[in-house]
Amino acid sequence: MYKTILVPIDIANLDKGKAMIDVAKAHANEGTQIILLNVVEQIPNWAAAELPQGILDKSHQTSVDEMNDIAKASGIDMEVEVRMGHSYRTILEVAEEKAVDLIIIASHRPGLQDYFLGSTAAKVVRHAKCSVLITR
Ligand code: ADP
Repeated sequence: MYKTILVPIDIANLDKGKAMIDVAKAHANEGTQIILLNVVEQIPNWAAAELPQGILDKSHQTSVDEMNDIAKASGIDMEVEVRMGHSYRTILEVAEEKAVDLIIIASHRPGLQDYFLGSTAAKVVRHAKCSVLITR
């Protein structure tokens, strides 16, 4: 079984995130650590300078709150990570940093069913050094 499972969640798609957590639970046993990760997309400095002060901190805090809520609702102990950055690169960085042995990721956002894989999922599958499970 897996020691550390990473579940990257897009907070615009919390229903999919909850379904992915159920898949993670089904692949976990007693000693498995499940990590929920949301990446708050980095905004270029020139654009960030135009935004009202505090807005980036607020969006980070919103993600932390949402992720903590779904971790709590899952009924089991999970680690929650919210990082600023580029989504697929940050998913891969956290996977290496935490010695993750399984990443569970959704194929794409709802409404884009024509594509085989979304852009984030495709890059994670191609570049991850560990196993990746795609949920549909
Ligand atoms: P699409 O290109 O169709 O929007 P993506 O590949 O971007 O699809 O998203 C598929 C999955 O990738 C999401 O359901 C989620 O698991 C993960 N993901 C996408 N964006 C993020 C993000 N900002 N933080 C964490 N996970 C993400």
